[in-house]
Amino acid sequence: MAAGLTTKSDSEELVSINPADGSVVAAVRATQAREIDAVVERAWSAYRRSGWAQLRPDRKAGVMHEVARRLIAEKERLAILQMRDNGKPLAECRGMVDAAAGAFRYYAGVIETHETEVTPPRGDYVSFTVLEPFGVVAAITPWNSPIMNEAQKVAPALAAGNAVILKPSEETPLLAPELARICLEAGLPEDQLQIVQGTGEESGAALVAHPGVRMISFTGGTDTGRAIARAAGGRLIPTALELGGKSPHVVFADADLEHAIAAVASGIFGSSGQSCVAGSRLFVEESVYRQVVEGVAERAQKARVAAPDDPAVEVGPLASFRHRDKVLQHVREGLRQGGNVLAGGAAPGGDIYAQGAYYQPTVIEGLGPDARLCQEEIFGPVLVVLPFRDEADVIAQANGTSMGLACGIWTESFKRAWRIGRALEAGSVWINTYKQSSISSPFGGFKDSGIGREKGVDGLRLYAQVKSMYFGLHTQPFSIGK
Ligand code: NAD
Repeated sequence: MAAGLTTKSDSEELVSINPADGSVVAAVRATQAREIDAVVERAWSAYRRSGWAQLRPDRKAGVMHEVARRLIAEKERLAILQMRDNGKPLAECRGMVDAAAGAFRYYAGVIETHETEVTPPRGDYVSFTVLEPFGVVAAITPWNSPIMNEAQKVAPALAAGNAVILKPSEETPLLAPELARICLEAGLPEDQLQIVQGTGEESGAALVAHPGVRMISFTGGTDTGRAIARAAGGRLIPTALELGGKSPHVVFADADLEHAIAAVASGIFGSSGQSCVAGSRLFVEESVYRQVVEGVAERAQKARVAAPDDPAVEVGPLASFRHRDKVLQHVREGLRQGGNVLAGGAAPGGDIYAQGAYYQPTVIEGLGPDARLCQEEIFGPVLVVLPFRDEADVIAQANGTSMGLACGIWTESFKRAWRIGRALEAGSVWINTYKQSSISSPFGGFKDSGIGREKGVDGLRLYAQVKSMYFGLHTQPFSIGK
């Protein structure tokens, strides 16, 4: 197939196209909006009858450990499938299967050890809290890290006792059914996890609007998040929203510049920039601006853009031809506001790239902080660089977007790192490192980057409601009006 094709989705069939070469990987049947009723009904039936919600935590943990074991046993096959589905380098896809297994192991541990509270009484009773599932939860995921994002929602939602309906992105439909099969084989009751395939406008919206869905966990773009929040607000159901980013990476003159330059390049060009926490805005203190910017541009020019199964690949294709074309368009339009391309700025030429959705690592300087390229998420390997004078200047510039997902700070001064880290509006702050991530640390966004925190022990509570219980200890009968 020729470059320019995209993953096709219509109301009947979703075709996964390998963005490395345009070949068809597989087709899956799209769930029709009218079928959602039956899916939700089956989920409630599983929730009420399977006994999963009432299963002792240690038994639930046993099943979840078995899911993790099976994910690892099938790691190579799953990693290759994901590589073909969305074009990420194979080594990264292996890491994502590891992360998916890690999420199941972690929430197996959480559910087995999680304690609720005995609360201080103000009368003759013992009071304490318990966690109750919502019943049926919908999880909606994007295309950039399917197996990992999906496991990070499914594992805590199941651990909390819910039945889960997972809708993967129409661009990457292949991993979610594998996860559901593995869960079933590991001992999860039938229909406790179901997959709905299809576009956001059809099956996604139908799921969000369905009165039987009691909670929604969403990861994706900010505009979609807003639409889901509106629908959920009307129904008064809770949502967890993990949305877009435009994360600043800040380099002070006193930093270890060699490490900083390497981390800046890896923070934006890794995963071809298709990471919600990609460090897409670089702020450099004036006195070292030229040195840092040239170092990053040199890394961009030298980065090995290659097929995702090339063992030496550093930057693979983008996840789809449609997305690559969006990135192209974005940069083209953004540059009309001025700006100077120091590296990349186009799709690479040459035979090996002709069939794939590639885009060159790109570095752009000379734009003002309000320029479109400095404000809007591109979700590609595109870095804008801006100088700053002092701490106050960089805090104002870095906080000057509507988003607030993550940030990186490079300085040898721990006091400055503390000041800047506290002042930046971001859910994750990396100091002298970047893009570290652990299932045990809460993750989420400030401002338009989201609501709620996934991961961590409290990630379980996203999928549960707190119930307060009182056991009376009265020795005398109540009197009316007491
Ligand atoms: P998207 O918002 O277009 O789609 C995400 C999911 O929502 C897909 O499954 C889609 O089918 C579904 N959807 C779309 N419209 C819907 C609707 N009206 N109702 C219900 N569901 C709907 O996002 P994308 O292009 O797949 O992913 C890229 C975005 O995801 C980027 O903005 C990125 O920053 C963000 N992202 C955020 C995180 C995070 O943790 N904060 C992680 C990964 C990706």
